[in-house]
Amino acid sequence: MLFPPLTRPRGPLRALLNRLHPYRIPLVLLFLALLTEVYLHNSYYTVRHPARDLDVPFHTSCQEPDLSPNAPRESAAIVMLARNHEVEKALRTVVSIEKHFNRWFHYPIVFLNDEEWDPEFISTMNETVSGGAKFEVIPKEEWGFPSYIDQDRARQAISRQGQQGVLYGGLESYHHMCRFYSGKFYTLRALREYKWYWRIEPDVEFYCALTYDPFVEMAKHEKVYGFTVALPKEPATCPGLFREVSDWKEEQDYRTTELWKAMISPSWLPWPLRKVMSVFSHRDRHGDGWNLCHYWSNFEIASLDFFRSNAYQDLFERLDRKGGFYEERWGDAPVHSLALAMLLDAHKVHHFEDIGYRHDWYYQCPANAPGGQLLGSEVLGEPAFEVREEREDGIGCRCECDGSRTRNHASYCLNRLTQPNKSRRLGTLGWVRSWWA
Ligand code: GDP
Ligand code: MN
Repeated sequence: MLFPPLTRPRGPLRALLNRLHPYRIPLVLLFLALLTEVYLHNSYYTVRHPARDLDVPFHTSCQEPDLSPNAPRESAAIVMLARNHEVEKALRTVVSIEKHFNRWFHYPIVFLNDEEWDPEFISTMNETVSGGAKFEVIPKEEWGFPSYIDQDRARQAISRQGQQGVLYGGLESYHHMCRFYSGKFYTLRALREYKWYWRIEPDVEFYCALTYDPFVEMAKHEKVYGFTVALPKEPATCPGLFREVSDWKEEQDYRTTELWKAMISPSWLPWPLRKVMSVFSHRDRHGDGWNLCHYWSNFEIASLDFFRSNAYQDLFERLDRKGGFYEERWGDAPVHSLALAMLLDAHKVHHFEDIGYRHDWYYQCPANAPGGQLLGSEVLGEPAFEVREEREDGIGCRCECDGSRTRNHASYCLNRLTQPNKSRRLGTLGWVRSWWA
């Protein structure tokens, strides 16, 4: 019998149970209904695995780069935003990308700055690049507070964030940078002639040779966005961002993609209790949360046309008018990521797992492909080091990192965001392991 009568109530819980006893059947039914509702709700957000992998490396070993004048090329540029005083770090990045990629492909590098360029920066880079360099100054209208922002209020919000210790929250220029990279970057006149960009930053290191043209492969496979590292976002920087994007998604009646589901942590509370959760940060109006996972945007190989589209620019405009680039410190990485998840099928996003990459202390470094190092190649030349450690599942080309340190921070987010493209399930143990990887 459910809830057997309790003859000798002891304590308040028993007293309550006794009082509820006459209603036991409707209560049990209600409980089951709520449980079913929670189960169905969570099932809706379970990411479906495709029958076959939808995003695989473009190549899994070194390739002989095609140096002929009629080799296929895309309309693309490597782009770096930098400040004059970052000349040394910027140079390290440029030397690294030239050595590992551009000495065979000669794409131009466009340098962007919100101030006039120092002649020293210009000459240093001109001496280093192999595909030409352009030095652009970002027009004032594209960098700084938009006209519809109350600047006094925005500056107060910025200093408040500084006092609260929000990462870079107290730096006005950092807010401008994030807003710029979120929307204005794509519509710059200086980039109008290009269809693709590869974003780099000062103090970046590449570890593997990239011996094919990533722009050509992106176009050929109809990809829109390529990334290396996926991370969870610092929560204090953007408490209200997810709510704004998810509200926009509903207003525009966009369907829920598998990629969007991969970014959601559905609530385990039943409706209507779940709705109460919507008062908290990083939650949509129904109470479901964002797991804070995003693509780390200091590396991007992506379509400019996608980010110039009305669908993306309208979202940016909406976010901009909400003021969150100043009231909070919305970063371009979560803005790009949530927009991609909202607008794209997962197979349009490519994980460049064959690119060895480091910025700050996060890095990705694949193991070398067995037998695929083209050690005799004249074009690639002698590797500057001994290619050690080829591993059975390695896909890297001449990677200069120790295969046992293959790493991509934090694996939980990488697994989450690549899940909609993977036929293989990770299993509970795999998820637990990914937290510690
Ligand atoms: P982090 O990678 O998030 O730690 O931020 P960074 O300080 O590296 O900034 C990201 C990118 O924006 C880098 O390429 C910087 O050179 C660039 N950047 C940041 N602030 C400014 C700025 O005020 N002016 C210019 N020209 N570039 C900036
Ligand atoms: Mn940086």
